[in-house]
Amino acid sequence: MIVNSLNIELPVGENFRIRKNRYCCEDLNIEEQKRVSIVSGIHGDELEGQYVCFLLSEWLNNNQDKIKGIIDIYPAMNSLGIDSITRSIPFYNVDLNRVFPGNKEDFLPAQIADAIVEEISGSAVAIDIHSSNIFLREIPQVRMSQQYSEELLPLAKSLGIDFVWIHDAVTVLEATFAHSLNSRGTKTLVVEMGVGMRVTTEYCINLANGIKNMLAQIGVLDIPTKELKQPIISQNGQVYYINSDSAGLFIPSIEHCEYVKKGDLIGKIVAPISGKIEQEIFSPADGVLFTLREYPIVYEGSLIARIFGENI
Ligand SMILES: [Zn+2]
Repeated sequence: MIVNSLNIELPVGENFRIRKNRYCCEDLNIEEQKRVSIVSGIHGDELEGQYVCFLLSEWLNNNQDKIKGIIDIYPAMNSLGIDSITRSIPFYNVDLNRVFPGNKEDFLPAQIADAIVEEISGSAVAIDIHSSNIFLREIPQVRMSQQYSEELLPLAKSLGIDFVWIHDAVTVLEATFAHSLNSRGTKTLVVEMGVGMRVTTEYCINLANGIKNMLAQIGVLDIPTKELKQPIISQNGQVYYINSDSAGLFIPSIEHCEYVKKGDLIGKIVAPISGKIEQEIFSPADGVLFTLREYPIVYEGSLIARIFGENI
């Protein structure tokens, strides 16, 4: 059932809307059903989650009898951004994921954040799907802060995802959707995968299957659970950031998501006008390359890659 879950009147006589598709078990009392919220499109330039929402809805449409709880799917939280290919909320130029928990009395982005928190709070689990930005490609990963890792790790493991990045940067995360929900007791996982403005079909299919597995594990879907591949977890090692020392065009030498050895060539930065190689970039450690520069133009300081080096 597709419904408008949020409607805010805009000054120009239009409305800001968030739509959801609700699936639930027809044989059980609605109050007794566990609710799961699948959220995407908080950033308007991230589209991988759109396809995950489609895949889930398509499957649920054909397997109504397997549904034992409420599954709410919100493909486009920042609907204005998605409609106008804008990461932030258009006209305000505000990143929606930096204004949580929001406020009813404040400007439009804060009103949207407040309404989203109210809507999703109380879910047994929420999954917030992001797809990096147009500059960086990410392997499928769940990110969580140390504070909530104990409750969230078992859920993340049921998704069959490649990598779990547990980090401590709480000051940066406090204004996010996930932090607001987790601090209110609603378990919320953040998935990052792929690249902005694109759809990586393989990642989306795998995540949709992983979400079905998680739903089975918590009793919302009546399907057999599977032993999916276990993620590498960042607790037992170190994340290395590799930034550019010069400006130019980045040409990668390796595929994404590769195990790299210390000293392997990751890529080079070249100068189109002079024909010179400005910089060769080597891996500082053995590990998994989980982030790689997608957009080729770089400046001094641009992020080129992130590598997770396991402590051996
Ligand atoms: Zn995002």
